[in-house]
Amino acid sequence: MSTTQETKVEQEAIKRDFYHLIINGEKVKGSKDETFKTYNPATGELVAEVAKASQEDTEKAIAAAREAFDNGKWKKYPIGRRAQVLNRIAAIMRSRFNELVELEILDTGKSLQAAQGQVSQAIEDFEFYAGALVGHRGAVNNMPGQFHNYTEKEPVGVCAQITPWNYPLMMAAWKIAPAIAVGCSVIVKPASLTPLTTIILGEICLEAGVPAGVVNIVPGSGSEVGNYLVEHPKVDKVAFTGSTPIGKDIMAKASQTLKRVTLELGGKSPNLVFEDADIDAAVDGSLFGIFYNTGQSCEARSRLYVHEDIYDEFVSKFVEKTKKLKLGNPFDKETHVGAVIDQGQLDTVDGYVQSAIKEGAEILAGGKQAHPEGFEKGFWYEPTVIANVNHDMTVVKEEIFGPVVVIMKFKDEKEAIKLANDTEFGLGSAVWSKDGARATRVANQIQAGIVMINCPFSAFPGTPFGGYKQSGFGRELCIETLDLYTETKSIISYYGSRPINPLGV
Ligand code: NAD
Ligand code: MN
Repeated sequence: MSTTQETKVEQEAIKRDFYHLIINGEKVKGSKDETFKTYNPATGELVAEVAKASQEDTEKAIAAAREAFDNGKWKKYPIGRRAQVLNRIAAIMRSRFNELVELEILDTGKSLQAAQGQVSQAIEDFEFYAGALVGHRGAVNNMPGQFHNYTEKEPVGVCAQITPWNYPLMMAAWKIAPAIAVGCSVIVKPASLTPLTTIILGEICLEAGVPAGVVNIVPGSGSEVGNYLVEHPKVDKVAFTGSTPIGKDIMAKASQTLKRVTLELGGKSPNLVFEDADIDAAVDGSLFGIFYNTGQSCEARSRLYVHEDIYDEFVSKFVEKTKKLKLGNPFDKETHVGAVIDQGQLDTVDGYVQSAIKEGAEILAGGKQAHPEGFEKGFWYEPTVIANVNHDMTVVKEEIFGPVVVIMKFKDEKEAIKLANDTEFGLGSAVWSKDGARATRVANQIQAGIVMINCPFSAFPGTPFGGYKQSGFGRELCIETLDLYTETKSIISYYGSRPINPLGV
């Protein structure tokens, strides 16, 4: 990428007062000229105004995606050339890394550390799929003599991609990159609280050479725009990341047209610390596991189980470090925990904590709103540790989606596994133990899509990400994802010299 003074001057800044829809390769206002506003959760201040897509705009986006897919050239590009465009998207993102980080922080209130990691990963996702798509192909199958069978992987078509507010740019990358890698067209509906970096990514796709209509971005309401996409007969697939109740609704509605569906939903992930763990590493990893991204992670390890022999030592260290976590200016690299996304989420989080107190739980740290100096008008919650709970309590059963962890004791491996699996969810999980055989044994029995062993990180480009049970189905971020954006066509041919007359007529 050129970084000369000249091109820099020509580039429009990423941070703006107004953001457009992207339909058929054009930056457009909404057909009804409606807009909505986005706010910085750290300060409560206005960030920008955003064009709001109507159903008419959504219809145009679907038509553009359909035309680009049915009659367009993208899916017919030589594979290496499509890979080159994906790499170009990554290169443009990298050349504008700091601007993307800044915009993501302003739109979400997340900390600099978190935003940097997520923007980096979004870039690497495009690079990963630029490579992965080259190796994605059909097969030749063994057949009895004189028959030949091969399979082709054909792009599934027009994909609606609906994303949540907690990792806006990263979720958009997880969806757009594999879909366009295999030649699909997409219509992306970002969450209304955090649409900005997704719109910019749409613009970057165009700049990198993705043809008009292949990537469309339609910010707007879930019940209008999202629902319209899910029900539309000309949309072939829906990929959704969000809450479990909305995921169920989408699956039911998508069934009317038998759309392909992938769902990345909520979680209540267990974190098991055994008596033979490296306690300090387990404390640090568990702290990251819940408080990273202000606990607003689908795979937040929000149920912490500690072996009774080390419970007191672990909890005292964990609580001490929780109290040291720094809240405040998200742009400060020392800040550990950013803001909560909005007032509604703040009320939800506090409601859960209050319900736990009412049911007799004990608050070991936090338990109330925070008011970091200079950020009093934002939405903040103290990192919260709750003990003296049991599996009948709401805080143990339901996803809180905030900086709140519940801690419980277990007495042996069998009980640990039973408690870990006693949930309707099955997304992440973690095991801390220096005994490799035990860690593997436990990992094998946990009902979850992801198990982290002595490791705080759950997602790298190339590693499958997705859930068991009511955490959804389908895997993103990996090679398998390419299969979920393709259909397999089986081609059988007969190459014998004598005509076949199966009915013998
Ligand atoms: P949400 O379900 O409220 O909204 C997600 C998206 O769906 C938004 O864009 C929203 O506008 C849209 N939407 C809402 N109603 C709709 C409808 N009826 N039809 C179509 N679209 C509709 O979720 P959220 O509050 O934005 O995000 C938090 C949730 O996302 C949590 O439950 C979290 O666990 C989950 N999540 C899961 C993963 C994962 O990979 N499993 C990752 C991140 C977040
Ligand atoms: Mn915002």
